[in-house]
Amino acid sequence: MRRRTFLKWSVRAGLITAVSMAGWGCSRESKDGSQAIRMPPLPYGFDALEPYISEETLRFHYEKHQRGYVDKTNRLLRDTSMQKQPLVNILLDSYQAKSCEQNAVFNNAAQVYNHTFYWNSMKPSGGGKPVGLMAERINQSFGGYDTFRETFTKAAIERFASGWTWLVLKEGALAAVNTANAVTPIVQNMRPLLVIDVWEHAYYLDYHNRRDVYVEAFLDHLINWEFAAANMGEA
Ligand code: FE
Repeated sequence: MRRRTFLKWSVRAGLITAVSMAGWGCSRESKDGSQAIRMPPLPYGFDALEPYISEETLRFHYEKHQRGYVDKTNRLLRDTSMQKQPLVNILLDSYQAKSCEQNAVFNNAAQVYNHTFYWNSMKPSGGGKPVGLMAERINQSFGGYDTFRETFTKAAIERFASGWTWLVLKEGALAAVNTANAVTPIVQNMRPLLVIDVWEHAYYLDYHNRRDVYVEAFLDHLINWEFAAANMGEA
């Protein structure tokens, strides 16, 4: 019941609107009348984030990794009751999975969602200190941008193995939180605002084992604060 309530709240708050605007969480009608998860559009060119994320990394990440999650999700959902559900519903329904099959659905579908959120969390010539609404909320929750930067960086560096570091709205305040593997904040009653992918495939070609330098580049040159502000919705 709580998850359903959260879904309604998310829709009202504009999260799902943001998802739809970005072309994700989307499904399409196929020729046989069934629906399927599809690849979201990348919001910029493959070379647009250079020199901080190379064209090679972005092409592999989008065309191989995310494409793989999309294709696997569609294979797993074929001829199931979840096939025609929006992506967010699939995540909420499969998160408490009891079976290996449902667990695989969650992991692959969540990776589609998380990667789309990540593409939109960055933009060319982004990064640095936020202004306006996000600056106010960062100051209220962290006591200033420098503390936010330190907290977010520490979380991203200390996330052991694969996962994601998010800026979320949690119980009325902003927080930097990590999720493991494919887990996404929307199934933990938190509203995601921004995310950095800290799986090694996101940075290894460009930074090798220097995750700290990748996180620094994300914060200083790539963050899309307008996307975070849009995800705040009416909060
Ligand atoms: Fe990734």
